[in-house]
Amino acid sequence: MEILDDRAYLTPPDNEADKVYECYFCDSAIYEGEDCYMIDSLVYCERCINKHFKIIAEKPDIEGYLADLEYHDTK
Ligand SMILES: [Zn+2]
Repeated sequence: MEILDDRAYLTPPDNEADKVYECYFCDSAIYEGEDCYMIDSLVYCERCINKHFKIIAEKPDIEGYLADLEYHDTK
């Protein structure tokens, strides 16, 4: 009867991916193969890229836009 060596299964799998970047925003590690984004040589993880855009984006001047429409309507 063949004796299987069970100890091989106890060895942790070699799944430690290389840490490639660190997110500029949340400091979490970004590993090889993970999605990440680079803007101006700053790296953002997938979770933070949306925050980045929200912060840099200008809020539209809705009131000004509506006032402008009204102005044209009443002309
Ligand atoms: Zn992040």
